Amino acid sequence: MDLTHRPRRLRRDRVRGLVSETSLEPTDLIAPVFVDATTDERVPIESMPGHERVPIDESVARVEEVLETGVEAVMLFGIPESKDPEGTRAWAEDGVIQEALRRITSETDAYVITDVCLCEYTDHGHCGPLEEELRSEGGVAEDGPGCEPTLTVDNDATLEALEKIVTSHARAGADMVAPSGMMDGMVETIREALDGAGFEHVPIMSYAAKYESAFYGPFRDAADGAPSFGNRRHYQMDPANSREAMREVRLDAEQGADVMMVKPALPYLDIISAVRREFDHPVAAYNVSGEYAMLHAAAEKGWLDLEEVALESLLSIKRAGADLILTYFAEDVAQRLPAGQ
Ligand SMILES: [Zn+2]
Repeated sequence: MDLTHRPRRLRRDRVRGLVSETSLEPTDLIAPVFVDATTDERVPIESMPGHERVPIDESVARVEEVLETGVEAVMLFGIPESKDPEGTRAWAEDGVIQEALRRITSETDAYVITDVCLCEYTDHGHCGPLEEELRSEGGVAEDGPGCEPTLTVDNDATLEALEKIVTSHARAGADMVAPSGMMDGMVETIREALDGAGFEHVPIMSYAAKYESAFYGPFRDAADGAPSFGNRRHYQMDPANSREAMREVRLDAEQGADVMMVKPALPYLDIISAVRREFDHPVAAYNVSGEYAMLHAAAEKGWLDLEEVALESLLSIKRAGADLILTYFAEDVAQRLPAGQ
């Protein structure tokens, strides 16, 4: 038997670190933070244990908690005090994100990224204002006959809203903006709006390949953003497609996106890996609420070791090719990683 090759030689304790191919550091992680203008106190999010919606008054304290763990970046999501069909509170100067941003950026050193979308701000919960579409097969109405008008998100009207949102976020201090609505042309529109307003230095992290995924379920509890009818499959991507993801990422690269995000992460590691191979941009992955909730649920039953599976999940996302990871595990995992590397 030829046993010249014994890979086990490099698995002994003191050599493992030397040959380790992937490492995870707190500075790779971004912690999502939910700011809620409808509450005066912190509200636990039942389907995402350990996470809360915090009032604007608590937003600085919440971000400081994140920073204490070694994580340096947060992604802000807002729940406005009121909603309407157009989502106008998304770009209000005294909107929930704008108020929280001014406080967080003046009082902390956090790198603050804002989610840029309308679904938390529209009363129908879709990612932009609606329009009627004739003979649509992919519209919002679940099962209308082919010739009935159905509703869909008005792409180009949404772009106009995104211009207003990103400039208001940048004025309030956003370090980076992250459009998540999967509208065609959103990156180009946002780049032009930022540059025109003097914010050439603000990068765009595009949710470039965002799938219409059932793994977002718990987030909808958190951000109160479930569509009141229909689904988002006419603007988010079909989970069956990977070549289309490359096309989406390429379009965003041409339009000037700085960071390319794939969402969700664990069920789409092949997409993360492909984006990593084909593009030079930093790749972000969103380890979404369902990925977090299912590990918590299994751990609650005693079926999994939560700390170990959380770490292994994030390591696998990094190994697949992500440079940065948005994750609800950010604080818990960062606290267990060796600091100051
Ligand atoms: Zn949205």
